[in-house]
Amino acid sequence: MPTPKPIQDVINAFSRLPGIGPKTAGRLAFFLLSAPDELAQDLANSIIALKTEVVTCPVCFNIMGRGQTSCDICQDEHRDRSLICVVEDAMDVLALERVGAYQGLYHVLQGVLSPIEGISPQDLRIEELLKRLQENEVREVIIATNPSMEGDATAMYLQQRLQPLGLRITRLARGLPVGSDLEYADPTTLVRALSGRQEMGVS
Ligand SMILES: [Zn+2]
Repeated sequence: MPTPKPIQDVINAFSRLPGIGPKTAGRLAFFLLSAPDELAQDLANSIIALKTEVVTCPVCFNIMGRGQTSCDICQDEHRDRSLICVVEDAMDVLALERVGAYQGLYHVLQGVLSPIEGISPQDLRIEELLKRLQENEVREVIIATNPSMEGDATAMYLQQRLQPLGLRITRLARGLPVGSDLEYADPTTLVRALSGRQEMGVS
């Protein structure tokens, strides 16, 4: 018997999520089928709310609630506005915020340079960063892209682009596991990487 279409549709949808193969997708679909209606309803509603109520901050490209003019971090007057930490995605902001050791602002690139995936500088929020740095008094940019090949390449590229502006450019200290994501780093490692950040040399 072929899988009924409504079930197959859910399996297909789950399969498109990262880290979920067809087998897990099937298990989830059948789990939802036998679960209380309320669970499926909550799941569906929260996904819709996620897509309609969460938008991108026009200043730093972090996430913010619909209706806000900029995100909570950009609006926070206690933050050090002369410090900008550049990260790959909004999840990295959450990771650094959880640790609570950073008091500056952020700039979310919304990705990382990747020739293989066809992601070039114009696909990232680099021009927006340059504009921000020209229009505001910033003394230091901390490049906190992930310690991966793409993350390193992006850091090097940024350094070259930012160099002419004459501000301090640092990179998170080594110690984060290579190839890992900032968001999975334990708090101690993250704090150490932040406090031990190093000047990026002229290349
Ligand atoms: Zn913001």
